[in-house]
Amino acid sequence: MGAAGRFAPSPSGELHIGNLRTAVLAWLFARSSGRRFLIRVEDLDRARAGFEAQQLDALAAIGLDWDGEVVRQTERGPIYQRALEQLAEGGLVYECFCTRREIAEAPSAPHAPEGAYPGTCRNLTDAEREERRQNRPAALRLRADTASYTVADRLHGDYTGLVDDFVLRRNDGVPAYNLAVVVDDAAQGVDQVVRGDDLLSSAPRQAYLAQLLGLPPVEYAHVPLVLNERRRRLAKRDGAVTLDALAMAGFNAAAVRRMLLESLRLPDAPLDQLAANFRPDALPLEPWIFDPPQVALSRG
Ligand code: GLU
Repeated sequence: MGAAGRFAPSPSGELHIGNLRTAVLAWLFARSSGRRFLIRVEDLDRARAGFEAQQLDALAAIGLDWDGEVVRQTERGPIYQRALEQLAEGGLVYECFCTRREIAEAPSAPHAPEGAYPGTCRNLTDAEREERRQNRPAALRLRADTASYTVADRLHGDYTGLVDDFVLRRNDGVPAYNLAVVVDDAAQGVDQVVRGDDLLSSAPRQAYLAQLLGLPPVEYAHVPLVLNERRRRLAKRDGAVTLDALAMAGFNAAAVRRMLLESLRLPDAPLDQLAANFRPDALPLEPWIFDPPQVALSRG
């Protein structure tokens, strides 16, 4: 199968220039290291009709290509189920009946890091579980035996972050992002994960879970985000941030690609040529501040 990198968008809306920049980087990291480049549609959650095709068109429009068929998470239920069963057989899964509010209001366990699940449902008795099942379907959580884990990141070095009893399957039966991502990356031969650095704090949980499942570790590169002038994450209301809107403002896909490459301090050359000369160490590490052109956006 061979090693692979990937881009894994959630089809919840149009890709904006920040997503496209991350995709270009994921492509460059993969191709410059002789890996395959895969696209996986993370449609378990937040999927909205029509956006998958639009996102793929946008990726192709800025010159990216990918190997094999696009994989959709909604078509892979059984593989997530098998991973859950494997963990459950090892005693590593428990039912959780907490609402968000209960979690927010629960006193945190002594020495528990900020933001960690307080462990409310970790040691329920069989009778308590049975009683709670009458009121609310259970989510499934990982019984983690560590509070932190360290991953190696190409741009951030060794990064140690929180691991708690995170959710593996939501209480509506949908596999959680952290489980699906780990299972899919391994099943697809992905050994290089390049994505926005908003997900850096999720990497320790994912690497820890991969290890519990006996899956090989991946190499990470969490790349800087694109921010607006107020240093907030770029959003549609900031102006023309998607390919369509930028086209209305007079920037076609080739022009957007040029802007992206310039922001990465790369010349406007064919992507294959850029891959041949790609040096991750020379990438800017600070966020790219993008001041979008203003257009009258008539469509929501
Ligand atoms: N689907 C996630 C997102 O669009 C990315 C997940 C990942 O790259 O691991 O934010």
